[in-house]
Amino acid sequence: MQEKIYCPFCGKKTVRSYQDGRIRSSCRNCEQILYETPLSSVAALVKNEKGELLLVKRAVEPAKGKWGLPGGFIEIDETVEEAALRELKEETGLTGAVKGLISVVSQVSIFWKKLVIIIGYWIEVQDHSRLEPGDDASDAGYFSLNQLPPIAFPSHQQLIKIFTEGATDS
Ligand SMILES: [Zn+2]
Repeated sequence: MQEKIYCPFCGKKTVRSYQDGRIRSSCRNCEQILYETPLSSVAALVKNEKGELLLVKRAVEPAKGKWGLPGGFIEIDETVEEAALRELKEETGLTGAVKGLISVVSQVSIFWKKLVIIIGYWIEVQDHSRLEPGDDASDAGYFSLNQLPPIAFPSHQQLIKIFTEGATDS
């Protein structure tokens, strides 16, 4: 990932050095270690009354033009459940209620050059007819489980498998 160059606490330049057996940025002025942590994101798992799975076609990189679950990064001022409902609304126009946690998976993102944590929520949608792609999605639709298109991310594949088969292995 990108080096932090200036200390967010005191504004002095930081240095890269071994700390606890790995290379970390730290500030020699205020002695603060600047920990590099994963990115946190959510994914929405939604089925319609026919048991079909909701997918969106990605309008942005990474994996632009490929299908995946509605979702995205969690904002700093919302709960993870709020993030899942917000991303669902932005990308599909659908509103819903969180019914449960499906699983938490992780994946090294080549695009973001970081580990990304993906928290997958089962969301129940009341009115599926309001489906309208928006924001980071160029298309959205429900797919029969035996006719799913190729899914962009291994992490989304994992979540879909757990959601649709109740499997805990990947
Ligand atoms: Zn500092």
